[in-house]
Amino acid sequence: MTAAHDHQDPRRITVFTGSAPGGSPVFAERTAQLARALAERGIGVVYGGGKVGLMGVLADAALAAGGAVHGVMPRSLVDDEIAHDGLTGLDVVADMHERKLRMGELAEAFVALPGGAGTLEELFEVWTWQQLGIHAKPVALFDVDGYWRPLLTALEGMSAHGFLSPQFLASLVVADTAEDLLAKLSAWTPPRAKWS
Ligand code: AMP
Repeated sequence: MTAAHDHQDPRRITVFTGSAPGGSPVFAERTAQLARALAERGIGVVYGGGKVGLMGVLADAALAAGGAVHGVMPRSLVDDEIAHDGLTGLDVVADMHERKLRMGELAEAFVALPGGAGTLEELFEVWTWQQLGIHAKPVALFDVDGYWRPLLTALEGMSAHGFLSPQFLASLVVADTAEDLLAKLSAWTPPRAKWS
């Protein structure tokens, strides 16, 4: 990943999301809606490459709407997460580290949809790398039905206690519609890096 200021109007967005579908159909509905909105605007999706859970919903909906979808999957997960066989591109990589690096290189912005520990791990890595100035790409939470509210409350608490600079909290994009998300990604400017 480079620290180039290369975020304007992303052509490809890396999406982190759950390998589970979630307990309510609203998660799949809103995921598919976002996938279609990206495809209709000619924005490619980069994601983990699987067919399971919301990851599969995302890929299927974007492909059905004519979008480009590129998967990145470690060899060890090809069977477990069921590598999607209809993608416009699939990189099978050595391990999780290579997966995240590749998913970071391929897109100009990152968006986390509802997911579990894996989604959070991926989200926090790209967000902390942004704070360190390792890349200058926007990181967003796509909120479905208030899913990210408890996390945002925890982050606000961390900031109030002096462990998270307000400028970094403010740099985390939060949106709940495709239009809102794309407008915010387009207007985003990188925060001043932590040790600069
Ligand atoms: P989850 O949100 O836990 O359902 O996981 C979503 C995706 O994150 C799955 O494709 C996992 O394989 C992936 N994942 C979990 N941990 C990591 C990690 N450390 N690095 C990269 N991807 C991960």
